Amino acid sequence: MKKYFNLIIMGPQGSGKGTQAELLAKKFDMEIVAPGNLIREMIKKHTILSQKIKNYLKKGELLPDKYIKKLVLEKINIIKKNQGIIFDGFPRNFNQTQILDELSGQLNLKKPIMIYLKIDRKTAITRIVSRRICPKCGKIFFPGSKNYRQGICSKCGIKLVQREDDRPEVVKTRLQIYFKETQKIIKYYRQTGRFIEVDGEPNIEQVFEKILEKINDYFKE
Ligand code: AMP
Repeated sequence: MKKYFNLIIMGPQGSGKGTQAELLAKKFDMEIVAPGNLIREMIKKHTILSQKIKNYLKKGELLPDKYIKKLVLEKINIIKKNQGIIFDGFPRNFNQTQILDELSGQLNLKKPIMIYLKIDRKTAITRIVSRRICPKCGKIFFPGSKNYRQGICSKCGIKLVQREDDRPEVVKTRLQIYFKETQKIIKYYRQTGRFIEVDGEPNIEQVFEKILEKINDYFKE
């Protein structure tokens, strides 16, 4: 049987966690569970609930845990058994850490290892306000990315936009929430030993290489 493991990729907005999650998913044939993406998909459906949810996103606030739990559970349920999962943007507060432990127990999932991408607030702000997104496929583009200057998605060929919650005034709230809520989560995972810290300041390839190196070391120990 294929050896599998689960990961949580943690870091402030702009730490590159979405990008690293995609690279890791490809490398290890894993599935990504990212509530932010699931929420954006849900909003596109224009239901009454999606209007309500949109307001949280607009303000940069966290959605109530009950919605997140439901979304995460629905997504996990369609993932094959024994396929590795990468949680991106979950848990985002300490209660969600407990929800994840609960779900892991109920669904018999391997306890996840946290990969923490450390960057400072200044780097986070610079990266977030300059990034653009494809409104169709959700791919993120940074100033160094191919096609960023043309402002066109390299896959869908449509115009890139700035995410509404990537505007400087909302970014401030999101980062405040991130730093306030995640300290306890990080401390918890550090204590479990299922914790890998990586400097998220270098470029994408360098960070990815470091993550792979540290995952390798983790399993050797
Ligand atoms: P993200 O794409 O991960 O930056 O998420 C975008 C927005 O979705 C956040 O600002 C929150 O409003 C909401 N969101 C994403 N993940 C969570 C979560 N785990 N708990 C609560 N709200 C979330």
